[in-house]
This record gives sequence, structure tokens and C-alpha cells, in this order.
Amino acid sequence: MYFTTFQYNGEEKIGVLNKYKTRVIPIEEFIRENTPSTMIELIERLSDEDIKILQKEYPENMGIELSDVKILAPIPEPVRNIICVGKNYKDHIKEVAKTVDDMNDIPTYPIYFSKMFDRILGPDDKISSHSDISNSLDYESELAVVIGRGGKDITYEGAQDYIFGYTIVNDISVRNVQKRHIQWFRGKSLDGTCAIGPYIVHKSAVPYPPELDISSTVNGELRQNSNTKDFIFNISKLISDFSRGLTLKPGDIIATGTPSGVGMGFNPPRFLKHGDVVECTIENIGTLRNIVD
Ligand code: MG
Repeated sequence: MYFTTFQYNGEEKIGVLNKYKTRVIPIEEFIRENTPSTMIELIERLSDEDIKILQKEYPENMGIELSDVKILAPIPEPVRNIICVGKNYKDHIKEVAKTVDDMNDIPTYPIYFSKMFDRILGPDDKISSHSDISNSLDYESELAVVIGRGGKDITYEGAQDYIFGYTIVNDISVRNVQKRHIQWFRGKSLDGTCAIGPYIVHKSAVPYPPELDISSTVNGELRQNSNTKDFIFNISKLISDFSRGLTLKPGDIIATGTPSGVGMGFNPPRFLKHGDVVECTIENIGTLRNIVD
């Protein structure tokens, strides 16, 4: 089951895709009373009964042709900053150590940072190049966990119950800004550098823990190619660890880190430039495509 936020006739709506992924069916076709109008409202109020209704097969001509809508980021306005995990794949730690920080150690605890945003980019939206302050715009393809149920002190064993589904984040980073301020926050948070989408796939469609191929390409050339089974800290660990003494809310997004093959990992580095097409792909979720402005 694929959830989407989309624009149709100038209106922002939420819906689900049909099984061929050729049409989108607005949520009001299924939930007629107190219909949620945003993805966060939907996540907060979707009951097990609603899920069962949405999982049924729909008539073939139900909904709107996908080509007639603009797909937006599934959560265009998250409740708060994106929660990000750094250095969560061993091969990425090695490439960063070789070219940037000389720190080869596997972290003992997850490394967290957050990503602020002015607006979240959706599929085909333009990535801001910030050419006046950046000489090192980079891509990071990541599996993102969307929290379904709020909670604090979540156990490792119970973590799965707090997940709504999964999507893709391109954690676009301005490396020179990231590096010179020591703390990563600013270099990860410039306007127009957080892309999410194309859809949220419901957790019922992905065996747990997710072991999904993850990749990225730039202008069609493969750059990153890994699998989420290679996480250093798996999703249960991240949710249970992060929520110790801290409340997660429905709609929170956790970007789980990126594998090797980012631009700064090459010697010489291969950063993004105007006109580059970046595609982040995760098995069973889709491809998030953006172009550098
Ligand atoms: Mg990242």
C-alpha cells in the first residue's frame, strides 16, 4: 500500500495508489467521515479497520490517472526537523575516513543530527545549488522510517509497532558548510536541500526488518549501491535508543543514514553541479528523482 500527497486541480490531497501504480485514489473515497486532509492527520487517525479497507482491491478505473497529478513529498510539512543518523554503514565510514576525517571507528552509539527545512522537495523538484556559498553539494540516498504512533522509552522488541511506513530521503549536504562549522546542522539544513518521496509504503508491505536494495545515480551513473541489511544500528535499535527519555510523534521522519558512494567519497570528489539529475532508489518503495538548479 502506497500513500501519496498530490496536487490535482490546484488542490493538495492525499491518497493511495492502485495495485498497478497507474492511478491515485483520493482518501475521501474510503474515509467519508472526518476525512483526514494531510498525511500527518491520516497517520494519526488511521485505524486497523481503515487499513483493511485500503488493502482491498479497487475497481480498475477508480481514481485519477497518475499522469494527471503532481506527486508532492508525502509529508510536505513535517511536524518538526527530520531526525537523521550519521555513519550507519561501515563502507561509508571508511570512505569518509579516507577523504575527510580520518576516523575509522565504528560508533559505539548512533550519531544523531537533525535537518531543518524551509519546504520539503518532492519528486522532480529542483535542488537548490547554493553556488554562492557551496563548492561541494552532495547527495545521500537513505531509507526513512515514518513514525506512526507516538511514544517514549520504546523497547527494542516493541519498536516495530511505532512505525507507519517507509520512504526515501535524499539528505542533500553542503560539505564545505558542514565541515567548517564542525557541527553538521547548518550544512545539512540549507533551503531546498531535503527531498522526500515519492511515496510512503505502509509497513505491512515490507517484511521486518527491511532488507532492501538502496542505490543512487547521478545522470544515470551508479554511485551508491547497498542494502539496508548492512545498517550498523538497525531500525529497532534506532527507535528504542532515540526514544529513551524523548517522545517521538506521529509523522516524525528518521533518515537512517547513507551507504558509500557519496560525492565526497571519491578522489577527487564528485560533487553535484547545475543540471545534474540525481535518482535515489529503494527496492519496493520507488525512485526519488531531482534535478540540481
Ligand atoms: Mg545522511
